[in-house]
Amino acid sequence: MRIGYGWDSHEFKPGVPLKIGGVTLPHSDGLGGHSDGDVLLHALTDALLGAVGAPDIGTLFSPSDPQWKGADSSIFLHEALKRVRAAGYEIANVDSTLILAAPKIGPHASAIREHVAGLLGISPDCVGLKAKSPEGMGTDNAAIANAVVLLKRSKA
Ligand SMILES: [Zn+2]
Repeated sequence: MRIGYGWDSHEFKPGVPLKIGGVTLPHSDGLGGHSDGDVLLHALTDALLGAVGAPDIGTLFSPSDPQWKGADSSIFLHEALKRVRAAGYEIANVDSTLILAAPKIGPHASAIREHVAGLLGISPDCVGLKAKSPEGMGTDNAAIANAVVLLKRSKA
């Protein structure tokens, strides 16, 4: 088995859609960054890449490369998944924690879990998602995501 860990943060920015786990959430601000700023998919991508000893997301998809400007972050996740499969592994489960002041994630949690499960090709009950408010951290202007993945040897 292999374990992987990923962490990411993006700053809130007005006038862009808020995408978390590939789901667009209704909110006044979105997340800045070179791609679509999907903090959860970035953390999951790094967790998958880390689990198989692959280069990290910033190395594979350089923020200075214009082709990733506004890119759908599921592209990054798919590349990570491809590398996991090529290394002979499949996902057992993933777990994640979001830390953000707003919006409330609770009402959207099942939609996000289902979408992420679909992207990863696993069952929604293999996708953990918690959301915490950044009490005492002074990071109300940012969204932070932590993710861990467990890989098992694929049967094929
Ligand atoms: Zn990111």
